[in-house]
Amino acid sequence: MNNLAERDKAVIWHPFTQMQTAPMPIPIVRGQGSVLYSADGREYLDMISSWWVNLHGHAHPYIAQRVAEQLQILEHVIFADFTHPTAVELAERLLAILPQNQSRVFYSDNGSTAVEVALKMAFQYWHNLGKPRRKVVAFENAYHGDTFGAMAVSGRSAFTAPFTPFLFDVEYIPVPVAGQEEAVLQQAATLFTDEVAAFIVEPLVQGSGGMNMYEPTALDKLFQLARQHGSLIIADEVMTGFGRTGRLFASDHLQENPDLMCLSKGLTGGTMALGVTTCTQAIYDAFLSDDKFKTLFHGHSFTANPLACTAALASMDLLLQDETQANIQRISQKHTEFAKQLTTYSTVDTIRQHGTLLAFDLKAGEQTSYFNSIRDTAYNFLLESGILMRPLGNVLYLMPPYCTTDEQLAYTYFQISKLAQTI
Ligand SMILES: *Cc1c(COP(=O)(O)O)cnc(C)c1O
Repeated sequence: MNNLAERDKAVIWHPFTQMQTAPMPIPIVRGQGSVLYSADGREYLDMISSWWVNLHGHAHPYIAQRVAEQLQILEHVIFADFTHPTAVELAERLLAILPQNQSRVFYSDNGSTAVEVALKMAFQYWHNLGKPRRKVVAFENAYHGDTFGAMAVSGRSAFTAPFTPFLFDVEYIPVPVAGQEEAVLQQAATLFTDEVAAFIVEPLVQGSGGMNMYEPTALDKLFQLARQHGSLIIADEVMTGFGRTGRLFASDHLQENPDLMCLSKGLTGGTMALGVTTCTQAIYDAFLSDDKFKTLFHGHSFTANPLACTAALASMDLLLQDETQANIQRISQKHTEFAKQLTTYSTVDTIRQHGTLLAFDLKAGEQTSYFNSIRDTAYNFLLESGILMRPLGNVLYLMPPYCTTDEQLAYTYFQISKLAQTI
């Protein structure tokens, strides 16, 4: 275990990391509840749910037990021509809690693949109907994943720059944040035509794009506009799913239902990789034919892995318990109270919240001369205080696991206040 960071440095290439300038990685050897324990005996409060995946705390004993049991029964089986109990049960239980019009479940491995599958379903839906449509409408600044299709429908940024020539064209509309709703609607009115195959959104909260938040009424109007022209609506709930916005899904805040949905991250409670794309009966029906060419030719080696499905079933048991639902409301309430306190700091701007997601912008105060370093200053200050938060530029956000206690929240709020008053 000694020198884990150095051994890492010798052999590993980390995600989203400039390896030349990156500090030594922090070796984490254990996790329990909302706390991560490092090799050198330090504790970190995981206020970002380990990249937005954890729902019920680390190494949850119930999920661990269920996965361990499944491991002795069936670890994996090919999912073409074969099926197994956990995949069927998970699909049944997901459809029972998703918006009513969702009727089929397609499994893959992660959020990006869930988006790829949704895009392929959408394009091939129109192809199979003999009315091909090529355009996709997406939000500026969107993030839908790192594989090529997912990158294509994401906003263009430094992340996508080397690949721009290889990404298919997408029409962008601005996010209808407060005050911009009418302007966005007007712009959208000219973009939605009979050529648009799909409109893809992160409902209510754009995650990686900076925790930009907007209201369900604005999104409903955009969905109605897309619908007038028959465009399919894809709700990428990879981040917003499973309670983050205060309801089970962000789509539950809407009047209009999406045609396709993408789920991952919290799906297994943060235990293992699993992706799900769901669709309506109409989309599914467009692939039914005697003609083999109408098949959805897509799949992954580990499609519907029984261990991952079991983790998802166990996580769903926990999520639907009254206690967890009460915790989601409790955290949302605490965030709202803290948001009021945040308004009193001159270094804090654009405070926004949907349920358990709280975000705000940090402005450099008098003592900080480099705006650019504000992210690192905040990150390091919090880390040294034993809090894992990972600002997106100058955007600070909280996305705690639902088991996070009032004391842990209070400590985090206190340290953020200290940061806001000293930065
Ligand atoms: C993280 C994320 C993805 C990509 O998921 P991965 O599992 O990291 O591939 C897609 N969409 C949204 C909204 C996300 O937040």
